[in-house]
Amino acid sequence: TTLQQLNNFELDKVHRKINEEYNKFKAMGIQFNMARGKPAPEQLALAEQLLNLPGSGNYMASDGADCRNYGGERGLPEARELMSALVGAPPENTLVEGNSSLALMHDYLVFSLLRGNSDSLLPWSQEEKIRFLCPVPGYDYHFNMTEEYGIEMCPVSLDADGPDMDQVEELVAEDSSIKGMWCVPKYSNPTGTIYSDSVIKRLASMTTAAPDFRLFWDNAYAVHHLTEKRITIANILDACESAGHPNRALVFASTSKVTFPGGGIAAFASSTDNLQWFLEKIGKRSIVPDRINQLRHMALLPDEQALHALMDAHRQIIDPKFEAVHAAFDRWLTDPTVANWTRPKGGYFISLHTPKGCARRAVELAEKAGVTMTPAGAAFPYGNDPEDSHLRIAPTFLSMEEIEQAAEGIALSIRLAVSEKARTKNNLCY
Ligand code: PMP
Repeated sequence: TTLQQLNNFELDKVHRKINEEYNKFKAMGIQFNMARGKPAPEQLALAEQLLNLPGSGNYMASDGADCRNYGGERGLPEARELMSALVGAPPENTLVEGNSSLALMHDYLVFSLLRGNSDSLLPWSQEEKIRFLCPVPGYDYHFNMTEEYGIEMCPVSLDADGPDMDQVEELVAEDSSIKGMWCVPKYSNPTGTIYSDSVIKRLASMTTAAPDFRLFWDNAYAVHHLTEKRITIANILDACESAGHPNRALVFASTSKVTFPGGGIAAFASSTDNLQWFLEKIGKRSIVPDRINQLRHMALLPDEQALHALMDAHRQIIDPKFEAVHAAFDRWLTDPTVANWTRPKGGYFISLHTPKGCARRAVELAEKAGVTMTPAGAAFPYGNDPEDSHLRIAPTFLSMEEIEQAAEGIALSIRLAVSEKARTKNNLCY
């Protein structure tokens, strides 16, 4: 029997039992923070050598450039070669700049607002209104960025194979104020969604009312597999080129979750036109990227094989944590009317759905029991999940023992929130 099928008397009994279990958990007095998808210390240790690299005397790039000095604004040729594997572009169309892919997305957005991109008739900020399509659930930092600049966000549903393309095609064809779309095409944050080749083809070939429409293609989890299979998807830059829209896709990636968050290297790839435009703009704010850090990364990761070997080592650390969450949820959340969650093949998150109106309360109960989760609603524009039913679980940072406990605490909090709701309404909505 599901919670929904119980009569009031049975529901009361179940509720008291869950409350008891929840209170027992709370009494343990644990204190864990799972708000963000951070690598665990053992993962950071995999790149520990970076702290000693490149080492005194090693300042020469493969082309003989002296990395201690100014020069080479596109990044080291060998770093562009390595990062080209993450962004799916030839090295000549790949720029390696700074440590943060989010900062590159921000730059592209802000330069477009101030100056318009290479296909704009006006700077975006001078348009009456501009809008971005936001597949939901999505990445909160994307949404915070667009909100910060007054760009209206238009949620579109994210299905099992990517954004709902009927909805997307209709919106972009009709509305010239839609200038962009956020996409995390593989192992999406937070759903783990993998865009199908047919979705990618439709995104590349759809007709857009705005001539300067851009896909912000955030390849944050390109090599972050959770299974032995290294899943590959269609190449968006090639698809856009063949569809006659070579400037449409902007591809971003970084090694934040490969080496060190904040101490990695970031890349941007696009058409020759877009790259030229972007280089011209960033050339006004900086003369040369940190090529010493690029050199350091090349010593640790001389080729793609080394990159995959490192990612395999990450997988061996984090996959058991995802499994521990699944095991706890399988044990505590057997009633499918209480929770449904994803079993991602890569990335950093598990996405979970409760019945309507229970997510915020579940996060509140988890917090009271000592488990800090991502705030409910964070995966939606303006932090507003209209159903109040989505939770993001970030299993990577805690130790195995901690994650086992935390997952149990989350499951109990969800069960309690749902049974509270069922008691007050005695009619759960989905
Ligand atoms: N995009 C996505 C989808 C992310 O989950 C994250 C966080 N790891 C980032 C971008 C941030 O990347 P960076 O550290 O390169 O700015």
